[in-house]
Amino acid sequence: MANARKRFGQHFLEAAWVAKLIGAIAPTQDQTFLEIGPGRGALTRPLAARAGRVVAIEIDRDLAALLERESIQNLRVLQSDFLDVDLRATLADERRPLRVAGNLPYNVSSPILFRLLGAADEGRFFSDATLMLQKEVADRLVARPGRKEYGALAIQVTLLADVDHLLTLPPGAFRPPPKVTSAVVRLRFRPPAVDVGDPKVFERIVRGMFLQRRKTVANALRPVADSLGRSSGELLERAQVDGTLRPEALTVHDIARLSRAVL
Ligand code: SAM
Repeated sequence: MANARKRFGQHFLEAAWVAKLIGAIAPTQDQTFLEIGPGRGALTRPLAARAGRVVAIEIDRDLAALLERESIQNLRVLQSDFLDVDLRATLADERRPLRVAGNLPYNVSSPILFRLLGAADEGRFFSDATLMLQKEVADRLVARPGRKEYGALAIQVTLLADVDHLLTLPPGAFRPPPKVTSAVVRLRFRPPAVDVGDPKVFERIVRGMFLQRRKTVANALRPVADSLGRSSGELLERAQVDGTLRPEALTVHDIARLSRAVL
């Protein structure tokens, strides 16, 4: 069997854990799954056996070709970088909403999460995602304001999904074992928890703010406010947000008010 490729974050799940993960996902015949990073197919085969259909996106040419060669009748394998795939076009003919599953490559799990959150369309495109993550990233998903793990990921998740922690796995659950503990979480996508005005503006404020988390809110907001043709002071005043706070003290509601103040 080919060696695991480190640059693709390959840590293959051991058979003993596959049943637990499939049990947590609980696929049914009427569902279509998008699997991110099928690898050697440890999850893909049992998913395809239980679900109606599986679309699997794998970056590694050799592994994608091996899986393709198995000719599993309800499986479509795409050899591509998940982050480059045009999801709307690629999944246009699939039954929606799709469910998502994946033992994610840890080196790109944050961009993958942002991508899923951006594409879920309030649960109409993706209904939910059951994902294996580095425990540290799982902690960032559910972090509350004031914690060091709190940032852009926690804010987007609070806005767009409900999160459940399903399993914790030791390094020995994978070959080769990673250096870290892993966690399986389920995100259930839903409409935004609060009106953010223009979602693009909201996203820019969140990113601008957490790129400069050591500054005060007033200072961290200045470059974004300038780029939007507003002053930081004006936005803080209209949103009734205290500019002397640090960004990590702001709730999703505070940032939503700042975003609406731009309109
Ligand atoms: N699902 C398999 C398992 O559980 O044994 C493999 C999981 S392994 C942690 C991550 C998989 O994602 C690898 O097969 C890797 O090649 C693939 N991968 C890495 N980066 C990717 C990307 N950007 N797009 C799609 N697949 C990717």
